[in-house]
Amino acid sequence: MKRASTGPELSVVIPVYNEQAGLARLFARLYRALDQLGMSYEIVFVNDGSRDQSVAILAAQFRRRSDVTRVVLFNGNYGQHMAILAGFEAARGQIMITLDADLQNPPEEIGNLVAKMREGYDYVGSIRRKRQDAAWRTYASKAMNQLRERITNIKITDQGNMLRAYSRNVVDLINQCGEVNTFVPALAYRFARNPTEIVVEHEERSAGDSKYSIYSLIRLNFDLVTGFSLVPLQFFSMLGMVMSLVSAMLVAVLLARRVFLGAEVEGVFTLFAISFFFMGMILFGIGLLGEYIGRIYQQVRARPRYVVQSILQRLPGEEEVG
Ligand code: UDP
Ligand code: MG
Repeated sequence: MKRASTGPELSVVIPVYNEQAGLARLFARLYRALDQLGMSYEIVFVNDGSRDQSVAILAAQFRRRSDVTRVVLFNGNYGQHMAILAGFEAARGQIMITLDADLQNPPEEIGNLVAKMREGYDYVGSIRRKRQDAAWRTYASKAMNQLRERITNIKITDQGNMLRAYSRNVVDLINQCGEVNTFVPALAYRFARNPTEIVVEHEERSAGDSKYSIYSLIRLNFDLVTGFSLVPLQFFSMLGMVMSLVSAMLVAVLLARRVFLGAEVEGVFTLFAISFFFMGMILFGIGLLGEYIGRIYQQVRARPRYVVQSILQRLPGEEEVG
């Protein structure tokens, strides 16, 4: 389990999904930034089932820099967080950095994260100084951030940002979890003893488009909420209790009116409006239950979370060839 003696000081884990257009630019900046740090490092790319030329480009880069490069190849698309988990499994470093492949997280910031880790923190999150994403995403993400802040006890200022550093201990704990749907920074925060955050730059996507559709963003946020909080379920229990009380009072009032005033039929449309509103609430509640139950189902089936097709890496002790 412990490979501390043989591993590098730093492991950088990068999920890659259809990023052929930007990988060359990423390599140019990433390897230079890491070479300049003057510490031993490895870069673990995880190909999340790309259907473009990403695999060929990663393989070529592996041949160029096999001394510090490893490539984990999935047999399909399992999502960014599964890719990072597979990277964590493969990584051997003492400090782990995660970062996106699209250069939105400047590789030059890695040095700052490492410096912060050396001050004794075991988790360094980051806050984007100025977020360079579409306006609707920035606002939706801010709102989700606030909601998550209230219903979980996870203190992450900027949850969407993946440029973060984790200690070996935290990653070992993450590796012990078998969660099928998870959110890596939140999980790490749970395990960290001494977490902190720094402010980093954020750039526009260097090439290609975001790999998240609105649908996958919603799903990801459900993973975060259901994976780290039961408050939404409790909210519906509370709402149910309040509603029962209010209805009981309404029944009493209506009964009294029936006795003292006789039969009445006014206010039918108000009644419709109220009942449609509550039907909506009930459907939402059932859907929310389903979100939890579906995840429980996936978890109890206990299928492999992802399938690694192959790993490109130099065997320990193997010399440079060519
Ligand atoms: N990614 C992945 N699998 C996916 C979606 C995304 O590995 O199913 C990777 C993607 O290649 C990138 C990172 O996750 O390295 C962040 O994705 P993206 O930049 O599209 O997300 P955004 O910045 O729009 O949140
Ligand atoms: Mg991005």
